[in-house]
Amino acid sequence: MSRLEITALAKGFGPVTALDAVDLTVPNGTLLAVLGPSGCGKTTLLRCVAGFERPDSGVITIDGEVVASGTSHTPPHRRRIAIVPQEGALFPHLSVRGNVAYGLGRAERRTSRVAEVLEMVGLAGYGDRMPHQLSGGQQQRVALARALAPRPSLVLLDEPFSALDAGLRTDLRRDVRAALRAADATGVLVTHDQAEALSMADAIAVMRAGRVLQFGPPADVYRAPADPWIATFLGEATLIEATLRDGRADTALGTVEVPSAPPGTVTALLMIRPEQIHPGPGPSSHAPAKALVESLDFYGPHTLLTLRLSDGTQTQAQVQGPHPLPIGTTTPIHIKGPTHTWLPT
Ligand code: ATP
Repeated sequence: MSRLEITALAKGFGPVTALDAVDLTVPNGTLLAVLGPSGCGKTTLLRCVAGFERPDSGVITIDGEVVASGTSHTPPHRRRIAIVPQEGALFPHLSVRGNVAYGLGRAERRTSRVAEVLEMVGLAGYGDRMPHQLSGGQQQRVALARALAPRPSLVLLDEPFSALDAGLRTDLRRDVRAALRAADATGVLVTHDQAEALSMADAIAVMRAGRVLQFGPPADVYRAPADPWIATFLGEATLIEATLRDGRADTALGTVEVPSAPPGTVTALLMIRPEQIHPGPGPSSHAPAKALVESLDFYGPHTLLTLRLSDGTQTQAQVQGPHPLPIGTTTPIHIKGPTHTWLPT
């Protein structure tokens, strides 16, 4: 499969700047998730890569071959790109086998390729079913099998799970990721779902207002977001201003170690995730911070506590399993482990 490179890509629609100097690289066989709020330019980016939109400037190359630049534009059907849309858009009058074979040449239809990709997406034995005899999740699996069958250079996935309910999405994400790996496919997934991007992709690009704000492995972007907007867009986060002295700060949430801080005294915005905040006094020799439990949201494997600190700051703590503290209780809290995220103010 192929390497995708996007350099200084720009696209406007009248007064709207949909893409502004976008640079991205997707190495062979990896999946990039493009994540951002509605209107940030995700679909326009995907459409430029697919060839449905002509960029105003910038260059797109697939395996070193320029497919779009200020002076050239390879038409979509010559880019060897497959698209998995939001809802499968299967041909209703064709069986699963017919849908998957659709993009294959006559010779390849007679090979085992259709059975092979149906197996990859977990639908071995479903070839004779009609689309209306499948669940929504199964239809999306067929759409993926159809996309993978002709061995495209690139697979573009445009919010492929948005029409499915939450429970189904988790299983499907895992299976789609496995199928893309089995096919050694290079992919770009467009989504506004943070969990989807973090759980599926090898790298994520966080977009806002036509620009890529941060690009990197999911765990790095989650742990060390480049700015406060990304910190809160990627999950719950409490941002507190603190004075760091030799890599340590006393905050309204308790004492925290910041090993990555420079020596000396600096003022910084610290990012603390709910999974770092724990009810209870903690090991610190300092008096623990105290917080009022305002609400409890039980999710099964974990509970999210919404807490109010004495200075009025609201924060959240995530604890494993159910939590016995009733709403209205005041509890000591502490920050467990160091924080690696500090943003200079
Ligand atoms: P969503 O998540 O809602 O699909 P998005 O991140 O995919 O949003 P785009 O569809 O790429 O965003 O749109 C980026 C910006 O460009 C928006 O302001 C949108 O209104 C504008 N836009 C997109 N297509 C066109 C068009 N054909 N004509 C005019 N404006 C457009």
